[in-house]
Amino acid sequence: MNRAAPVAIHRFKGGFFGVDWSDGNRTALPYRWLRGQCPCAQCVDEWTGERRVGESEVPFNVEPVRVKSVGRYAIQIAWNDKHDSGLFSFEYLRELSARFAKGPRNGEAEPACGSKGGCV
Ligand SMILES: [Zn+2]
Repeated sequence: MNRAAPVAIHRFKGGFFGVDWSDGNRTALPYRWLRGQCPCAQCVDEWTGERRVGESEVPFNVEPVRVKSVGRYAIQIAWNDKHDSGLFSFEYLRELSARFAKGPRNGEAEPACGSKGGCV
């Protein structure tokens, strides 16, 4: 099965980070929520998996200042709170997208679509 890859990145009005995917799906996630899902070692404890920096730790006006693609599997987002070590793999972005679609406060719920990639 082909894995979906981003074909375009958008900044939507109202503070949403948007991704158009090669399979035709579109993701739109609020900046602050997305920043709070950063998977890097500063934000998530490498040993315990416990989140150290979540949505409530980041500024209300957080937004991406630079988005860089990394290989063919991830994007790196630099934020205006000077944090730029988070690599969001395509797979992780799709998972976040599915999680957000189920309700942004329902952070730990299983993504409805798993790795099938069918719905975002
Ligand atoms: Zn981080």
